[in-house]
Amino acid sequence: MVTSFVLKVASRCNLNCSYCYMYNLGDKTYLKQPKFMSISTIHTFAEKLAHYGKENGLRSFQIVFHGGEPLLLPKEFYKESVRIFTETLSDAYFDFVIQTNGVGLDEDWYALFNELNIRVGISMDGPKEYHDRYRVFHNGKGSYDEVRHAIQIGLEKGMHGVLSVANLNISPNELYEEFKSLNVPSFNLLLPDGHFDKLPDDLIKDRVNTYDYTPYADWLIELFTIWKSDPDRPNMRFFKTLIQLIAGEDAGDQMVGLKKNGVAVVETNGNLEVADSIRACYEGITRNSINIYTHEISSILEDPLFDIYINSHQMVSEKCINCPIYEICGGGFLLNRYSNENGFDNPTIYCHDMIKLVTYIQNDLIDSLPDEVCKEMELNRVSYDEILEELENKGPVSIQKNIKDKLVAYSLT
Ligand code: SF4
Repeated sequence: MVTSFVLKVASRCNLNCSYCYMYNLGDKTYLKQPKFMSISTIHTFAEKLAHYGKENGLRSFQIVFHGGEPLLLPKEFYKESVRIFTETLSDAYFDFVIQTNGVGLDEDWYALFNELNIRVGISMDGPKEYHDRYRVFHNGKGSYDEVRHAIQIGLEKGMHGVLSVANLNISPNELYEEFKSLNVPSFNLLLPDGHFDKLPDDLIKDRVNTYDYTPYADWLIELFTIWKSDPDRPNMRFFKTLIQLIAGEDAGDQMVGLKKNGVAVVETNGNLEVADSIRACYEGITRNSINIYTHEISSILEDPLFDIYINSHQMVSEKCINCPIYEICGGGFLLNRYSNENGFDNPTIYCHDMIKLVTYIQNDLIDSLPDEVCKEMELNRVSYDEILEELENKGPVSIQKNIKDKLVAYSLT
């Protein structure tokens, strides 16, 4: 069931980050979108949400104000939006979040977000030298100074956390020290967007998912070791989720685990779509005709791409179903599985990285727990080589034909 809605309140941004899926990874359809979401769209969406909640017995929603850059809208927009949501769904609980690049985020904005109970997340890519290489204004100037300032003010004003894209060019130690020096209570990492035919810049095409090429795992293992040995470590959701999954807990998100994805995107014009980073597959892949002005929210479930997205940890390639760490990796994030040849019928571009990382963390967990606890948790030592060997052999479970047909329907060959 969809309970989290990412509202693309602005389809333009004041930054021009080189890796951005919105503007720099192959989809230009944002140019046809209104620049900003109108209050009338918020109104219509809130009414449809009330109906959808009633139909499905749902009273708890997450609303994420996202962009482009959401701070390009005036403060009045947020006051009005929160008023409309809380009045239209007066018996619902809302978790309001805003994800911003931090440019222009000052005391006045924080005061407003505190008043409206909107949690603030800021995107930052580490030390100045690196952040300013990727997260630049349209004139090429880096945004580090502004963003650092916004984080520093936010530490006292209730900033929720910092989000970073893993970057192999930054040493894990430097990245960790940067966030420690900022005193952020929580930071999360995303793996770079990309797929088999549009790999992230730092991956070498011919070596992806080969035996001795696991650059992200090597980088993440180093970061994990630093993080784990710090008695005063900040919360790192990426590692925490993996540990929970290894321990058999019900955890996960669109990247890992087996949970269904309960997130839908509302575009500035009211279109309902899948997670917008999927746009990086090819021009227009996420576009459909489902709009909140003409459709109910539940219509999104009829979009075949949304069907794959919401079930993306169940609709996986044959290799994944037979993988010993499938319950932890979940086959990875849908975008990262895409290839022009097979559509979504692939393991992720980070497959070997995930195997190496998960085996490392699992073995590390075993080393730090008493034997009887590991036994109770059914935790066994695992090895990267053994898992790869197992994956080489065709597994006992075959992918269902109807699922395979859905996954390959998006191939371009
Ligand atoms: S590690 Fe690779 S094969 Fe295993 S579930 Fe993940 S993507 Fe699939």
